[in-house]
Amino acid sequence: MSNCPRCGAMFSCAPVDESKDRPCWCSALPSLSPADLQALGADPAGSCFCPACLKTLIAARAEQTASDGK
Ligand SMILES: [Zn+2]
Repeated sequence: MSNCPRCGAMFSCAPVDESKDRPCWCSALPSLSPADLQALGADPAGSCFCPACLKTLIAARAEQTASDGK
């Protein structure tokens, strides 16, 4: 199990938990680059986020990108 660096929730991440024989749930979601995370003020420090935070961050980044692109 891993701890979310944003909210502290426990969650499982296949790459972090070394269960490499199956795809992680996060591979089904759009990925955020380190630059995306910095723009959101979220530094994962080499970790992953819990499902709730990752979805929140992806939505927030999508909104930022939409307003930047005008
Ligand atoms: Zn979280």
